Amino acid sequence: AHKSRHFARRRNQTCRKPMEGAGEEKPHAVCLPFPAQGHITPMLSVANLLHAHGFHVTFVNSEYNHARLVRTRGAAVLAGSPGFRFATIPDGMPQPSGDVDDDVTQDIPSLCKSTLETCLGPFRRLLTELNDAASTGDHPVVTCIVSDLTMCFAMDAAKELDVPYVQLWTASTVSYLGFRYFRLLIDRGIVPLQDVKQLTDGYLDTPVEDVPGLTNMRLRDFSSFIMNPDDYMVGYAIKVTESAARASAVIVNSFDDLEGEAVEAMEALLGRPKVYTIGPLTLLAPRSTGTIGSLSLWKEQEECLQWLHGKEPASVVYVNFGSITVMTKEQLLEFAWGLANSGRQFMWIIRRDLVRGDAAVLPPEFMEETAGRGFMASWCPQQEVLNHPSVGVFLTHSGWNSTMDSMCGGVPVISWPFFSDQLTNCRYQCNEWGVGMEIDNNVQRNAVTGLITELMQGESGKKMRKRAEEWREKAILATKPGGSSHRNFKELLCDVLLPKK
Ligand code: UDP
Repeated sequence: AHKSRHFARRRNQTCRKPMEGAGEEKPHAVCLPFPAQGHITPMLSVANLLHAHGFHVTFVNSEYNHARLVRTRGAAVLAGSPGFRFATIPDGMPQPSGDVDDDVTQDIPSLCKSTLETCLGPFRRLLTELNDAASTGDHPVVTCIVSDLTMCFAMDAAKELDVPYVQLWTASTVSYLGFRYFRLLIDRGIVPLQDVKQLTDGYLDTPVEDVPGLTNMRLRDFSSFIMNPDDYMVGYAIKVTESAARASAVIVNSFDDLEGEAVEAMEALLGRPKVYTIGPLTLLAPRSTGTIGSLSLWKEQEECLQWLHGKEPASVVYVNFGSITVMTKEQLLEFAWGLANSGRQFMWIIRRDLVRGDAAVLPPEFMEETAGRGFMASWCPQQEVLNHPSVGVFLTHSGWNSTMDSMCGGVPVISWPFFSDQLTNCRYQCNEWGVGMEIDNNVQRNAVTGLITELMQGESGKKMRKRAEEWREKAILATKPGGSSHRNFKELLCDVLLPKK
């Protein structure tokens, strides 16, 4: 059904090309990501795309992340380049005390609350400053705002300036629906849970049917936040996902072949604003062609790529749980021995703050056992790693960017979802898209070894690699001229972001 989307919703308008007539002002987009790695990276892609299409861009980081980026990328990059500037606003979080290590991920629920409650004022002041300075000829006046969907307070500021306001949803469309249906789960009486026992007695396997745009969902496949209805994040998720109905448009880092049905359901829920799938953004806006390259909050270790060179095709297990996931020391050890016992070569990215409340230290016996076949680093250029032919399987937390990275690399996954949307992504990877197998939250070394063996040499592994390769081809097609994401981006420019003549 979803294949017909484009034809049904096409409504071409005459569209001004940026910089068409002499003396015309450039359009100016202010891009406001949520201040976490998995949100900054896709927003940078959008910003790079707009810049390549003639926009002046102001990219707004939190002060906390700006300081980190200066450390990882250098002050020169953060000074910006012609037509691409950086600005900062405070995130409203308590100041980290001097003796605390600042290169760690901030607590996500606290950050959600604090951005929603405190950032509008500083953002408004920034816009006023930008427009005041525009009269000096330094840059054009602000003509549109693109914010993360979760930074939905920016809508008020856009309304005040009377400029188009576009939201970027950096996760999967199916996870958008999952959050958005929290209200429905509550109305149906499926949650709140009546008893903690329901977490373990099979209740979470309850099928949740008749949820438009979602298929084969069980309660456990919805965002983890809903398991605790007192959680601030339940009301937060409902509030931000419902805000999208009042945006000028919503863009999603996904593509129609993958999520067309969910996109249709999302559009139906939103009513007025259109949903533009423009992903995978890493393919539509490859970082090599962007002016800024990357905005990585950790220093990327290029040695990772050197280590992969020369290894047999599809011979390496790549392990990375993204920027937020934390685990216990015991879980770290189960993963470690699971990897060691698989006998495979592996690359494991271990952030310094990966283990909850402790240093992520592996025992000397493990280091001895895996010497010469294990490579450890604290952060890597993940897109390049997953594109490397030597990588055979990805042990992942199923964050959406990592999910897109693995599809773009044609690599099947072993999924250990940690929280939030990752549970929904995992369900779709394993059950609908045919690219992965899940590992139990209570991870055991034998299960890790077993899944690695199955995916690297078993029949199901072969099938999943083939499916992953097919998704990769579809993703590439979607982002090439004539493809859905490529076309959607042009339509977004024309329909929404460029001033009409
Ligand atoms: N990433 C990276 N190097 C690493 C780990 C992660 O460049 O060593 C990037 C990855 O490509 C992705 C982002 O960090 O763009 C992580 O986002 P994701 O949505 O996968 O998970 P999150 O960190 O938000 O949980």
